[in-house]
Amino acid sequence: MKVCVIGSGLGGVLAACSFAKKGYKVDVYEKLPYPGGRFTNIDYKGYQLSTGALHMIPYSGNGPLGTMLKKLDADVEIVDSKPQVLLNIEGENLTIGEIAKVFPLRYKVGLLKLLAKLKLNKGDKESFAWWVKKQVNSELALKIADAFTGWSLSLDASEVSSKEVLKEIKNFYKYGGPGVPMGGCRGVTRALLEVLSAEGGKLHLKNSVEKIYGDKHAEGVIVEGEKKNYDLIVSNVGLKATASLAGELFPENYKKSIMNIKSSLGIKISVASDKPMLDFSGVLLTPYAERIHGINEVTNVSPVLAPQGKHLIMSHQILKPDRNVKLEIEKGIKDLKKLFPDFDKHCKILATQVHRKNWPVNRVPSGKVISPRTPVRNIVNVGDAIKPLGMIETDGIAGGVKEAINYVEREFS
Ligand SMILES: Cc1cc2nc3c(=O)[nH]c(=O)nc-3n(C[C@H](O)[C@H](O)[C@H](O)COP(=O)(O)OP(=O)(O)OC[C@H]3O[C@@H](n4cnc5c(N)ncnc54)[C@H](O)[C@@H]3O)c2cc1C
Repeated sequence: MKVCVIGSGLGGVLAACSFAKKGYKVDVYEKLPYPGGRFTNIDYKGYQLSTGALHMIPYSGNGPLGTMLKKLDADVEIVDSKPQVLLNIEGENLTIGEIAKVFPLRYKVGLLKLLAKLKLNKGDKESFAWWVKKQVNSELALKIADAFTGWSLSLDASEVSSKEVLKEIKNFYKYGGPGVPMGGCRGVTRALLEVLSAEGGKLHLKNSVEKIYGDKHAEGVIVEGEKKNYDLIVSNVGLKATASLAGELFPENYKKSIMNIKSSLGIKISVASDKPMLDFSGVLLTPYAERIHGINEVTNVSPVLAPQGKHLIMSHQILKPDRNVKLEIEKGIKDLKKLFPDFDKHCKILATQVHRKNWPVNRVPSGKVISPRTPVRNIVNVGDAIKPLGMIETDGIAGGVKEAINYVEREFS
């Protein structure tokens, strides 16, 4: 079977390797001059910034992505963070177990109820914010919920269902919290591309797919003006862009059904420092910051991400579509200076990256579960539009790729 993968983002490369390992003949077309999409590094003044992700894998080396990488024999080491998460509350960095001490007495019973139900409840369509409020109606609990969903999903807790978030939390208990791949995002992408090449798959950079052609089913793609025939098309470019490439192959009602899906947007600030600002490699959630939801310092695990003796810190905040980007960045920087009183002495802002339009944080918001199948039998979607329930970002992508492969095997074997 001849497989065309459109896009070399993590979803595309994972799918390409999986199909190549099964003996299919795979071509990956990437319109940019580099592979990896939003999951690779940008060399900047000796620092390894990223094209998107914060150099983290949500469920460490044991989650769906870590497992898939091992299965594919990708040579990448993912280091689990210890502690996984701390919360900056009133200037102190606390573990989850320590937060009870900052809750006023009247909320303590509610907090204990909430912590117990995090493990037991399945949640519902109601928002996670609403669910938290039902357990303990405290401002701090809601702020923590917003910091968690803001960091991990680029959504407020009121914008995502309790069913999604409670499943994510169960997955944290099951697999473990975030891990950092050695070498950052590019460590993962590079290892996968080595697998692809070893399995005979081919990556074609600066090759934009212009159209998926066919009559009732896809017969191939037009790349840089040339027609190429394939048996299966795996699209990594998002639902809307895939629909646009497929044109009349997809029915109008399907196209209409995906047009209103809103991506999650965000702003990332990358900071250089001449001393470690955090003494761990996990996430510092910042519920009391005005805009920033969390910060990490990945050089605590992978020092190659900064020049020798320097450190790389990254913050993340949601970008609401109606907000002024310049003001949002200013507020993010103000938060950083407040969180680190010695910021001006030790830190320097390297870059602020705004993630929106066709380079968002998530093309489909977490909690919206979409099948990899499309109206055309031999066109499947992979990537961050296809994430199973309760699976965050790149772990969700791995889960979606697995579903796509299972579908293809069922349908075409
Ligand atoms: C600020 C930010 C922080 C994040 N932090 C994390 C994190 O710490 N951990 C985590 O797990 N995830 C994180 N994510 C999410 C993660 O980066 C994405 O989920 C993931 O990289 C998306 O991969 P993808 O394969 O879906 O798509 P993409 O990476 O977008 O890949 C799509 C590719 O298709 C190519 N393409 C598009 N059109 C065409 C065409 N017509 N022909 C050929 N090629 C085409 C594009 O150039 C691109 O390379 C973060 C994202 C952002 C923006």
